[in-house]
Amino acid sequence: MSTVFKKIIDKEIPADIVYEDDLSIAFRDINPVAPVHILIIPKKEIPMLSEMNQEDTNLVGHLLWVATKIAKNMDLKGFRVVINNGKEGGQHIFHLHVHLVSGRPLSWPPG
Ligand code: AMP
Repeated sequence: MSTVFKKIIDKEIPADIVYEDDLSIAFRDINPVAPVHILIIPKKEIPMLSEMNQEDTNLVGHLLWVATKIAKNMDLKGFRVVINNGKEGGQHIFHLHVHLVSGRPLSWPPG
């Protein structure tokens, strides 16, 4: 089932887009948890990481590559990438997305 992220991909609703290519789109999180909080998503509708197929390996790798490209372009000193998987894993929107978080000290373990 399509989510709000599909509407962002299709430009049916606005988003603060920071990067886009044929495979992916990245935009600022509407409710940021840090000064930099960007979501990188595939244009292909994969509900969550655990539902990726082997054929999606390059696509998922591409999302991480985009995250590092954005981090470099923004000159981020350090950053964290997070993928919440499933309701119990803290996922709320069931369209695979990588959180790129930076701009404040990031503690470990995460909450
Ligand atoms: P998750 O909890 O991992 O599923 O993350 C979903 C994220 O999407 C949350 O951080 C939300 O703040 C963010 N979000 C929800 N709707 C929008 C939107 N329309 N534009 C940007 N970010 C959104």
